[in-house]
Amino acid sequence: MNNNTPILIENGRALLPDGDPHQGERCDILVHAGAIAEIGTGLAAKLKAEGKTFETLDATDRLVIPGFINAHYHSHDTLAKGTMDETPLETWRLLALPPQYPKRSRAEIRARTLIGALECLRSGMTTVQDMVTLYPFDPEHFEAVVEAYEEIGVRAVVALQYADIRGIETIPFWKEIFPAEYHPYLSTAAEPDKKIDQLAWFEDNILKQQKPDARVTWALGPSAPERCTRALIERTAALAKTYDLPIFTHIYESKGMALQARLEYPDHGGSLIRRLEVEGLLGPRLNLAHSVWLLPDEIEILARTGTNVVINPLSNTKLKSGIPPIRALQEAGVSIALGCDNCSCSDAQNMFQAMKLFALLVHISDPEPGPDQSSRAFGAATMGGAHAIARNDLGRIAPGARADLVLIDLKDPSYVPLNSATRQLVYTEGGRGVDTVMVDGRVVISNGRLATMDQDALLEEVMAVVPQFREDFATIAARVETLKPWIAQAHRKIWAADVGTNRLFTGR
Ligand SMILES: [Zn+2]
Repeated sequence: MNNNTPILIENGRALLPDGDPHQGERCDILVHAGAIAEIGTGLAAKLKAEGKTFETLDATDRLVIPGFINAHYHSHDTLAKGTMDETPLETWRLLALPPQYPKRSRAEIRARTLIGALECLRSGMTTVQDMVTLYPFDPEHFEAVVEAYEEIGVRAVVALQYADIRGIETIPFWKEIFPAEYHPYLSTAAEPDKKIDQLAWFEDNILKQQKPDARVTWALGPSAPERCTRALIERTAALAKTYDLPIFTHIYESKGMALQARLEYPDHGGSLIRRLEVEGLLGPRLNLAHSVWLLPDEIEILARTGTNVVINPLSNTKLKSGIPPIRALQEAGVSIALGCDNCSCSDAQNMFQAMKLFALLVHISDPEPGPDQSSRAFGAATMGGAHAIARNDLGRIAPGARADLVLIDLKDPSYVPLNSATRQLVYTEGGRGVDTVMVDGRVVISNGRLATMDQDALLEEVMAVVPQFREDFATIAARVETLKPWIAQAHRKIWAADVGTNRLFTGR
């Protein structure tokens, strides 16, 4: 379909911001120039009477919802889905993260970005926030990521993940427990890249050339506060202000990260949140991925400063990190978005799974009756995500909003009978019902298949890079096997420590 010809999404049921969350509103949606131009009934007859030309997208028996926003995602390990089972976070890092691997080929960077984006789109996500680690850094690799997003047609908010403190310095007990000869193998999320100042490169080559209204936009990605010096955090805050950018970082994902704060930052009361407040990073631009081990007084600071969190229920449970204090965050009024995090630990880019687990974790976190969680999970996956990336024209179906829309098949058994669209999206849907996905007014998924590229050719591109990835993964997995006794020793010491809260259900 030509982007200049208006598209009429006709005869669907839409989940509108103030509409019926259970049955949806029967309506037509007119899309023009990438945006929602009008919502109403009988629009086809009206347009014909006005002599206007338009194309029709039949939405009979379809639920029309705003596209999901995957507010925490990393494209760098999409080839590693299904490679691991029971794996605590600190072990997982050594198996999954780019600094562990030899330099990748440009073809692999492109293929892994495309397959990740395809999975996101296929499960109804129209925007991904990709906090990508490219190590060792190569501008061509960054180019490959951006080109892949432009070609496949998803909306992307790309942030390079950077740090200037080595991983081994940031995990409690590792330096003392591991024999020195193993220290070079203990790099983690993002390692300082000695050859290049990534932030300066990003500013000079990317930010200074920002295109208005581009579908691929930028954010800043300091890996985690404990992996960044004060100077780097302050540079990040200044750059975000100058270029009006959202910031994404990791906070208190595991107990080890909370313990590190207690040990390393006594001047800030053992709190990374207090440290970030002093360094000027807290505020509406900042998004804290995970936030599992937050303390009540830290939640109050987030609420007071308008800082957002991004909950990643799939990876937090798979990696044994714990259950985030979702209800306490809700009660404090903190804005919450949802992410599916890495493919190697979620292992799906599937917002239906993430929404369901989000709601279920709240249910088992508090014996007291609480508010409805399906609408909150759906809100986090749409409006919450839009807030995280500072886009009030996304995450809702309203005139003037961008046309990022998903059509769900109401003839799928998940919706028969249709008792509550919102609840069935969250508790019943697995992803089977996603039929059509539109991004910026362009149909990207049609009848469940990619419409912007040759899907089979894309899969072949991926399979062509898999042998090299598998060979390298096997080498790394064998190395990690030899490191496990020391990892376990550090892990037990972390678990024996008191950090002032407990976020792991032990049943004891
Ligand atoms: Zn992450």
